[in-house]
Amino acid sequence: MSGLPFQREANLIGGEWVGADSGATFEVNNPATGEVIGRVPNAGAAETRRAVAAAAKAFQGWSRTTAAERAEKLRKLAAALEKNKEELAVLLTTEQGKPLAEARGEIAISAAYVQWFAEEARRVYGDTIPSPWANRRILVTREPVGVVAAITPWNFPSSMLSRKLGAALAAGCTVVTKPASQTPYSAIAWGLLAEEAGIPPGVINIVTGSASAIGGELTANPTVKKITFTGSTEIGKMLMAQAAGTMKRVSMELGGNAPFLVFDDADLDAAVEGAIGSKYRNTGQTCVCANRFIVQAGVYDAFAERFAKAVRDLKVGNGLEAGVTQGPLIDDKAVRKVEEHIADALGKGAKVLTGGKRHALGGSFFEPTIVTGVTPAMAVAKEETFGPLAPLFRFDTEEQAIAMANDTEFGLAAYAYTRDLGRAFRVMEGLQYGQVGINAGVITTEVAPFGGVKESGMGREGSKYGLDDYLNVKYGCLGLS
Ligand code: ADP
Repeated sequence: MSGLPFQREANLIGGEWVGADSGATFEVNNPATGEVIGRVPNAGAAETRRAVAAAAKAFQGWSRTTAAERAEKLRKLAAALEKNKEELAVLLTTEQGKPLAEARGEIAISAAYVQWFAEEARRVYGDTIPSPWANRRILVTREPVGVVAAITPWNFPSSMLSRKLGAALAAGCTVVTKPASQTPYSAIAWGLLAEEAGIPPGVINIVTGSASAIGGELTANPTVKKITFTGSTEIGKMLMAQAAGTMKRVSMELGGNAPFLVFDDADLDAAVEGAIGSKYRNTGQTCVCANRFIVQAGVYDAFAERFAKAVRDLKVGNGLEAGVTQGPLIDDKAVRKVEEHIADALGKGAKVLTGGKRHALGGSFFEPTIVTGVTPAMAVAKEETFGPLAPLFRFDTEEQAIAMANDTEFGLAAYAYTRDLGRAFRVMEGLQYGQVGINAGVITTEVAPFGGVKESGMGREGSKYGLDDYLNVKYGCLGLS
C-alpha cells in the first residue's frame, strides 16, 4: 500500500499481488494538480497470459458453485464497497478529477450493480420446450461463457467495471480486467474488495500496462471466451476485429453523440435542469452526455438564456474541495479537443454565449461553455466533444428534429423535453438510440438496460438483460429409450 487507502501499486494474478516481469512501472497523475499520485506495474502480454491461465483455473471451481453461493459473495462485495465508500470516492476523485459528490455517487451505483447481480444470479432460468417427438424431451439451459476479458475506460473507472464484474461473476464466469492507464487505482481496489468479500483467488485478475500488448493477448488468447469493452468506437472496432480470429463473444459500449431535443411545449425549467445533469456531469466526460442541443425556434432564445444562467452557477475547481461541481478534464488532449470544436464552430459563424476558453485555474480546467447558432456543417454535429461544451442547434418541425437527432452513425442515448403525450411517444419511437430519456436528463440505473445501437455498440449492461452476454444457451434433446 502507499499513499491513500486502497491505493495498491500491484497487479492481481491468481490471488498474488505482483509487479510487471520487468519491474517496470508507469506514473499516475492527479488531473486537478498535475501531481504524481503513484506508480503501477507496466505489464504486457506475458503477465496477461498468466492472468488468463489463472482465470481459467479458477473457472473450474467458480462455475460449479451454486447460484446462492455466488450471490452471497457478491452481496459481501457490495457490502465492502458500501463500507469503504468514502475512501474509494476520495481515491476516485484523486485519480479521475470528478467532484467528490459525483465520486460518491459512482461508488454507490457500483455497489448497486453488484447487489443487483447478486439478486439476478438466482434467476438464470432455462426452459422446457414442447417436443415435436413423442419420445424425446427438449431442455434449454444457460451456462457461463468462460473466462471474460474486461477493458474499461477512465471516465467511470469503478462503475464501468462493476457492471461487467457483477454480471460475469453472477453468471459463473471469471475475469481478467485491464483498466485505463489514467485511472488504474479504482480498478485495482476491486482486488482488495474481492479479498475482503472472500471471492476465491483467480476469479478476478487485474493487469495494468500497455493497452496494445494486454489487449492483443486478451483478444488472441483462445482461452478467453468473451471480450467486454467500454471505450471509444475506434478501439472497439479494432478489438472486435482482433477477437474475430477466435470468434469470441463481444459486448461493446462505445461512443455516443447524444441529441437533447427541446420542443416549444417543454417545461423549460425542467429542460435546463436536465441539460445541466446530462451535459456537465463529470465535466462532460460521459458517453451518454448530451452532445447536441437541438432546440425549437419558438423557445430557442428563452432556453439559451436560462441554460446560460444555470451554467454560470457551476463551480469549477479541484473535485476534493467543497462546493465544486466541475472538475478538470482528464488531460490536455481532452482540452484541445474542446478547443478545436469551439474554434471550428466560431469559424463557421457560431457565437459563444458563456465560457469558451481554458479556465483561469490553468491545467486541464475549462470553462463550462455554451455556443449558439450551431449548424450541421460544424464538427460538433458529427463528433463527440467529451467535454463541457453545449452547442445549440435550431429546428422548426418535429420531423426535422428527429431527422437531425438521427443524423449520426452513433446511437447510444438521446433526450427530449416535451409536454405533449403523443409527441413524447412519436419521439421515443423515432429516435434510433438504445436509451431515450423523455423529460429526464440522467437516466442510468442498475435496473435498466444500458447500451447502444449503430456504431455505439452491442450488448446491454445492468438490468435483467445484463446477464445474457455472459451466458451461452445450451439445447439438450433427451431421448426416452
Ligand atoms: P478513451 O478515448 O475514452 O480514452 P479508449 O478507447 O482509448 O477510450 O480507451 C478505453 C480503454 O481501452 C482503456 O482501458 C484503454 O487503455 C484501452 N485501450 C486503448 N487502446 C487499446 C488497444 N490497442 N488494445 C486494447 N485496449 C486498448
